[in-house]
Amino acid sequence: MKNSMQAAVVERLGEPLTLREIEKPSPGPGEILVATEACGVCHTDLHAAKGDWPVKPRVPFVPGHEGIGRVAAVGANVTAVKEGDRVGVPWLYSACGHCEHCLSAWETVCAEAQFGGYTRNGGFAEYILADPNYVAHIPAGLTPTEAAPLICAGVTTYKGIKVTDARPGEWIAISGVGGLGHLGIQYAKAMGLHVCAVDVDDRKLAHATRLGADAVVNATHGNVVAEVKQATAGGAHGVLITAPSLGAFTQGVAMTRKRGTCVLVGIPPGEFPIPLFDVVANCITVRGSFVGTREDMAEALAFAADGRVKADVELQPLSAINHVFERLGRGDVPSRVVIDFARQP
Ligand code: NAD
Ligand code: ZN
Ligand code: ZN
Repeated sequence: MKNSMQAAVVERLGEPLTLREIEKPSPGPGEILVATEACGVCHTDLHAAKGDWPVKPRVPFVPGHEGIGRVAAVGANVTAVKEGDRVGVPWLYSACGHCEHCLSAWETVCAEAQFGGYTRNGGFAEYILADPNYVAHIPAGLTPTEAAPLICAGVTTYKGIKVTDARPGEWIAISGVGGLGHLGIQYAKAMGLHVCAVDVDDRKLAHATRLGADAVVNATHGNVVAEVKQATAGGAHGVLITAPSLGAFTQGVAMTRKRGTCVLVGIPPGEFPIPLFDVVANCITVRGSFVGTREDMAEALAFAADGRVKADVELQPLSAINHVFERLGRGDVPSRVVIDFARQP
């Protein structure tokens, strides 16, 4: 068997990825090797490749944290999965398992957490090394390409909606109807919420309506905050901001109902001002949310296995990765592009 594999590699931050053969990893004790069937392309991969965030990834690295595949080999002492199982290798690649956060099922904020496609090589490659204790278990009935977006975009929006504390019958405003937002709308509807979708692109908003959004608002014209407040009869009980644009954050806080919660999920580089008096006087909660725990992952996948949430995917070969990145950067991807490894020559 050949001991190299095709991968898309970030050699230098801010430059196009290089498609080349790299060494095929082999699993050490406690590790597994996953043969990639599909990997979604998240806007986070773009931030990673550009080096947008304060903690930069070390080059060279292979991005991709929505990789789905079969376990091809297991290292010594692996009992959590077996060869042939279909798993996903998510952003939360591993954590320490014994710090205060891990012990209270908040492994997403473990100080020793490793991140797939960032601090560890990810899914834009034919094989992925993974930690069997942190992989997603893909329910039978979901294909690899439809499961891929769920293990980041799906779990992130599902968890983000949960931590708004919005209850059935209440309103959630979802800002950004891309990879994350198009799934967020479906989770929110399945959770009994009314949804007001906000985007800058009328085609995304038309799609939001098809997915069940009760109201849509275009953020590029008119007074977006006033329009959302009107649509939600006074402001949304929960706001989920997935847009990779700082302006959306200022707007998102302002469209939050009194005593409501605004959850920040998009991570454009930079900072945004918070109107202190309004947040204090209206008792608004502003909180961050980072992917989801393994428990959130199992729940998020179950919604899809039950047919209540379905990712819209456009399939592309790995060789198209740089073009996909360009399109994602200019907002020209309808929902989610998934790299389909079955299409590789
Ligand atoms: P995407 O490019 O697929 O979608 C972004 C959407 O936002 C697009 O539909 C775009 O038209 C819309 N948009 C742009 N500017 C807007 C504005 N001002 N107002 C409203 N909508 C606007 O991206 P994605 O893959 O969904 O990722 C979105 C963001 O979420 C990225 O910053 C990514 O890094 C972040 N992310 C965070 C987590 C987390 O755990 N917190 C997980 C995954 C992704
Ligand atoms: Zn992601
Ligand atoms: Zn820990």
